[in-house]
Amino acid sequence: MNAPLLAIEDLHVHFNTYAGTVRAVNGVSFEIRSGEMFGLVGESGCGKTVTGLAIMRAIPSPGRIMKGRIFFQGEDLITKSESEMRDIRGGRIAMIFQDPTASLNPVFTAGYQISLQITQHRHVSKKEAKQLAFDMFSEVGLPHAKSIYNTYPHELSGGMQQRVMIAMALASGAELLIADEPTTALDVTIQAQILALLSQLRESEGLTILLITHDLGVVAETCDRVAVTYDGHIVESGTVDDVLYQTKHPYTQGLLAALPDTVRHKQSLEVIKGSVPDGLHSVSGCSFHPRCPKVMDICLDQPPSLIIVGEKEHSASCYLYMEETA
Ligand code: SF4
Repeated sequence: MNAPLLAIEDLHVHFNTYAGTVRAVNGVSFEIRSGEMFGLVGESGCGKTVTGLAIMRAIPSPGRIMKGRIFFQGEDLITKSESEMRDIRGGRIAMIFQDPTASLNPVFTAGYQISLQITQHRHVSKKEAKQLAFDMFSEVGLPHAKSIYNTYPHELSGGMQQRVMIAMALASGAELLIADEPTTALDVTIQAQILALLSQLRESEGLTILLITHDLGVVAETCDRVAVTYDGHIVESGTVDDVLYQTKHPYTQGLLAALPDTVRHKQSLEVIKGSVPDGLHSVSGCSFHPRCPKVMDICLDQPPSLIIVGEKEHSASCYLYMEETA
């Protein structure tokens, strides 16, 4: 088993707004091993993206990391100075987003932007950076690397822009790529190509990937392990096989029931009633209880802890399994 590349312990991120304190991340802990693809999954508003931004130490104002530790290769990123984080961010850890258009500067060519990224994070000449850019464009499947180099972002399709973003992450030497809904804005066929590219880079480059997604089907196809988030904390985690095929938590069961027929065979799609808590108004006990079809009296009182529920790595926070494990 590979050593953890990233270990997050009891992370809390709050946003102090005029309406009150929004608890976006509420005690998240997980580890990602070197060379694995780890899925962080949940509905919008469950704290997935904020967790990714916290790893980059790039939480937008008025958000703040209130508590917790983020170890990357054994070093606590929380204690790093802003100048140290500038080297790590975009260098050793890179992040790509749903909409690559928003990440690329429209007034500079793709080549200028990747070369700038390379020279900021690697000790190479401009000529070497240009050659490295060509190599990376080829690596991510962009044809005619030299012409792509001189192309402006608006001249590229969404899929090609996302490939440029992935090339930039590789070119700067990133060991961890945080991919936040990287295929959500793309056509279905292009989605499959980008996911295949990420899997291939993991194999060929040893890239470690944190895949943030709302789509358990994507997780089933690409990830080794997964953590399911709800209301800013993890409610179930384990290997993809355990979480998707020995599912324990009613929220994960609800997400699976709402999937099209890609993971399980069924007659009709179901919905999880209600909506995710807004983080502003805390819900007593298990925060999933207003939406849970299996809610019990005990669920309304104290939040359940994350406990082992099956194979060694499979854990869930739900009172349904407390007696079994007592
Ligand atoms: Fe449902 Fe209770 Fe389990 Fe929460 S603790 S998921 S409310 S059964």
